[in-house]
Amino acid sequence: MNKDKLIIAGPCAVENKLQLYNTFKSLNNHIDFFRAGIWKGRTSPKSYPGYGLKALPWLQDIQKKFQIPAAIEVGTASHVELALKYDIKTMWIGARTTVNPFSTQEIAESVRNCDVEIWIKNPIISDIKLWIGAIERFSRCGVKKIKTIYRGFYSEKNIKYRNDSRWDLVEIINKKYSEIPIIFDPSHLSGNTNYIENLVKNTRQDLINGFMFEVHNNPKEALSDNKQQLTPEEFKYLINKFF
Ligand code: PEP
Ligand code: MN
Repeated sequence: MNKDKLIIAGPCAVENKLQLYNTFKSLNNHIDFFRAGIWKGRTSPKSYPGYGLKALPWLQDIQKKFQIPAAIEVGTASHVELALKYDIKTMWIGARTTVNPFSTQEIAESVRNCDVEIWIKNPIISDIKLWIGAIERFSRCGVKKIKTIYRGFYSEKNIKYRNDSRWDLVEIINKKYSEIPIIFDPSHLSGNTNYIENLVKNTRQDLINGFMFEVHNNPKEALSDNKQQLTPEEFKYLINKFF
């Protein structure tokens, strides 16, 4: 495995205990971090909102047993408080949260001087100043371990991918914060597993330090993002081919 790049993988969302553990077990030897959303900031209130805090003890158990850090999305200060209670110290800020300075400020203050790692996804719209603003809020609150995640930007145009690819903006972030690792999330950028292999192949390797993949033990039945989640076999194929 090419250890130059970090590998983060896991389901879009926790759906039940068996799905979580089965997915994790299929990835366990191949990943640096395990991702699993438990609070999903869905566009529609009718969509699956995530399993919620009842999944926290499972993630805590996985971390402890397998010594692999688990990462979840946080959208409020109370999410942070609950995560810390269950020893989850790696948290990401979703694209729909990065756009909101009130939210990013509130979350940044809730981790002030805590030993946490924060990953900041690009804002859903291509206003790079919002991405920069979020990075600065966390860094001003004393967060030392920050990564950014590039997952593409919303477009009104009829484009090939779910989100618009803007490596030019990633380049600006890389120039401005050369010390902050950038993770590429081809799952959310493409919105479709058919494109993921090509996106990995054509990645700007010079700009990124790792990848985040959505992987589900049974993507067809997934309650969210079912078109873009890889099966464990598809994931392992990519890992063997490229890393
Ligand atoms: C996710 O990572 O599952 C997610 C909701 O991503 P984004 O915020 O990039 O849409
Ligand atoms: Mn998702």
